[in-house]
Amino acid sequence: MAYGLLIDYELCSGCQSCEVACKMEKNLPVGKWGIRVHDDGPWQMDDSKNSGRAFNWNKIPVPTDLCDLCVERTSRGREPVCVHHCLANVMRFGTVDELARLMDGSMKQVLFVPSNQ
Ligand code: SF4
Ligand code: SF4
Repeated sequence: MAYGLLIDYELCSGCQSCEVACKMEKNLPVGKWGIRVHDDGPWQMDDSKNSGRAFNWNKIPVPTDLCDLCVERTSRGREPVCVHHCLANVMRFGTVDELARLMDGSMKQVLFVPSNQ
């Protein structure tokens, strides 16, 4: 069964707690990360095309190739450490089927499924 993370980055504040928590949990060296929070913007929108938003500015958490979905924790029934430490509830862990059912059609949702599981 395939597992993944449902990431709703509309809610992401860019606090980077997930980055730090993952790095500590996985004991990753300097320069290596299990998840990165990417900063997209700010840049001004085209007034003729936007939906009332003046600026594009997104914080987008993206797991890296080192993400194993915290298999040591999840195999013991615990949630991934990035999910646990995100106060904004940006990420959910589950099976791909469960997470796909949770996708509600709103913008800015991403379903991440690592290849190394
Ligand atoms: S996903 Fe959560 S913990 Fe990570 S930067 Fe966004 S708000 Fe912070
Ligand atoms: S699931 Fe675990 S390994 Fe993957 S990004 Fe989150 S904390 Fe890091």
